[in-house]
Amino acid sequence: MKTLIIGGVAAGAGAAARLRRLDEDAEIILVERGNYISYANCGLPYHLSGAIPKRDSLLVISQAKFSKRFNVDVRTQSMVLSIDATAKSVQIQGPDGAPYTETYDKLLIATGSSPIHMEIPGINDPRITQLWTIPDMDRILQKIDAEAKRAVVVGAGFIGIEVAENLAEKGLDVTMIELAPQVLPTLDPEMSTFAAQSLSNLGVSLELGHKVTAFVKADDALFVEMENGTRIPADLVIMSVGVKPNSELAKAAGLEVGPRGHIIVNEKLQTSNPDIYAAGDAIEVVDPIFGGKTAIPLAGPANKQGRMVADNMVGRHSTYPGSYGAAVVKVGNITAASVGYTESKLKKMNVPYQKIYTHPASQAGYYPGGAQFHIKLIFSLEGKIFGAQMVGPKGVDKRLDVVSVAMQNGMNVRQLAGLELAYAPPFNSAKDPVNFAGMVAQNVLDGDSEIVHSDALPEGAVAIDVREPEEIEVGPIPNALNIPLESLRGRLHELDKKANYIVFCQVGLRGYIAERIMRQHGFNVKNVSGGYLTWKMFHPAPLTPRKKPTACPTACACAISADMPTLDVRAMACPGPVVSLKKKMEELAPGSRLKLLAQTTFEPDLRAWSASTGNTIVSLQIQDTTLEAIVEKKRLIPR
Ligand code: FAD
Repeated sequence: MKTLIIGGVAAGAGAAARLRRLDEDAEIILVERGNYISYANCGLPYHLSGAIPKRDSLLVISQAKFSKRFNVDVRTQSMVLSIDATAKSVQIQGPDGAPYTETYDKLLIATGSSPIHMEIPGINDPRITQLWTIPDMDRILQKIDAEAKRAVVVGAGFIGIEVAENLAEKGLDVTMIELAPQVLPTLDPEMSTFAAQSLSNLGVSLELGHKVTAFVKADDALFVEMENGTRIPADLVIMSVGVKPNSELAKAAGLEVGPRGHIIVNEKLQTSNPDIYAAGDAIEVVDPIFGGKTAIPLAGPANKQGRMVADNMVGRHSTYPGSYGAAVVKVGNITAASVGYTESKLKKMNVPYQKIYTHPASQAGYYPGGAQFHIKLIFSLEGKIFGAQMVGPKGVDKRLDVVSVAMQNGMNVRQLAGLELAYAPPFNSAKDPVNFAGMVAQNVLDGDSEIVHSDALPEGAVAIDVREPEEIEVGPIPNALNIPLESLRGRLHELDKKANYIVFCQVGLRGYIAERIMRQHGFNVKNVSGGYLTWKMFHPAPLTPRKKPTACPTACACAISADMPTLDVRAMACPGPVVSLKKKMEELAPGSRLKLLAQTTFEPDLRAWSASTGNTIVSLQIQDTTLEAIVEKKRLIPR
């Protein structure tokens, strides 16, 4: 069998290697238009900052080694110009520019996708580029070496965010412009606020909801112009506004393509011509959630599809079930992950759904080093999981993957509640956050809890905030009546059985307890899903980009002295941190300082509490999942 593979990276190289392992006698030709095969394009952004220090680490295997190990005829700098499906041959333009014909018995089209090119005036300025290949990365690094200081990234999807983060880490002044009013379109707007905050914390300026209309040259300087007339100076612009499938060869060869240009394949990844397979970013796949077609340009699906094509070429029966779109990205010190459908998409499709929010800890609250993260679970009114989104500093990828596997096995939210997951305090709680999200969803489906959402609070309902007063100092909910949970039973007589109540707490758990108490006493009451933290996601504070905190010099005014009292609230669940901080500060004399150790997610609360109480955050540093701050008690006479 003579197999020809077009495209030598994720799907193509994977298919070639698997094919050789299955058939020692096959003739395998791998044709790649670039200089490199099987390289780590997903790692490119991280070499910009030096997080991946060595360029060579991105070249997973050299052409020579790949050729030798897998006995594959690798032809780089060779571009396939056309496919003749009847003659079973392709036209290739080799490195010398001369075209020649090569025949095949089986063909794989693994041509991937390309960044979308926008026709914007001035876009051909050499300072404007993209990050897609190793040469692109080299070009960006050359510009940085040539003193590029200000970068503009256009597009706030995965790659744009990774580029912005790594350029900021490298020390560049970065602005990100995005047409949508949010970053990361795989998340719903309220979940994306954490990613926006994290970018802002890295010093990235966000211009959301703006369109780039021109690249303007004035003298020698380049400016990125937006629709509102604002011009942002740039020494370097990275365009990252989406991808389109490389399917021109397939189309010209008469193979069927979908409405957005993706190659149509069957479950064995055969195109409309059974001797021609296709895999990776270039194809459309089944949407297993609603049964239609989708396209998921990600490395995981591409690699697995390449392997399956090799299986099918040797006569095995490997079928691709479709893609759920499980995806994860690092944004500063947080992870953002998602799978399946967002609420925004379901709304556009007019599909009825329910959703819940939880804000669990990554591990047992009493075991140090954990961090709070945020879960949104979206499901049908019968409990079928439509999608999940998770964001936070720790524990996110594992939980997202659990939900993704559950979806792939047709499990519903009730089954999430009962999943058996490994437990020990350093890793999770006995009820893992996925179990817990399942239980909350189950309570809603069973009617044990009636919830409302912060983006659609019922008009005329009386809000009761069951948090402690110290928590309310940090973040009040407008017009809510404060009745702390512990005193609720004793104060029920103050409430009116004819009124409609909604209850808030910090994360939704005490609110649920309050709801159960009130309902069983005959009140009309609903719990606000995810409590104050979810409400805050829908009412975020304006972003102010700040430079990455730098370590204090030991001689500076805030240097930690040996006798400075320390408060460690890292292992406390709400309302523990703010209550403990308040108590500890009350013990101190005005002007004295406290060293505070907390989870990084405590930062907004700490800032809000300090602002409302007149105490001062003298310094604040973040290291992994720990926030270390020096807080000075309000002086009687201001300095
Ligand atoms: P590719 O890996 O792009 O390979 C296609 C190859 O075909 C290309 O090398 C191209 O030169 C070649 N080719 C095209 N046309 C021809 C022709 N006519 N003749 C010869 N050769 C041709 N995905 C994730 O899941 N996670 C990530 O973190 C992630 N990060 C990414 C970061 C960056 C910067 C980039 C660019 C992509 C990232 N991706 C990520 C996406 C992922 O890399 C792609 O989904 C995956 O590589 C697609 O595999 P593929 O084989 O379909 O295409």
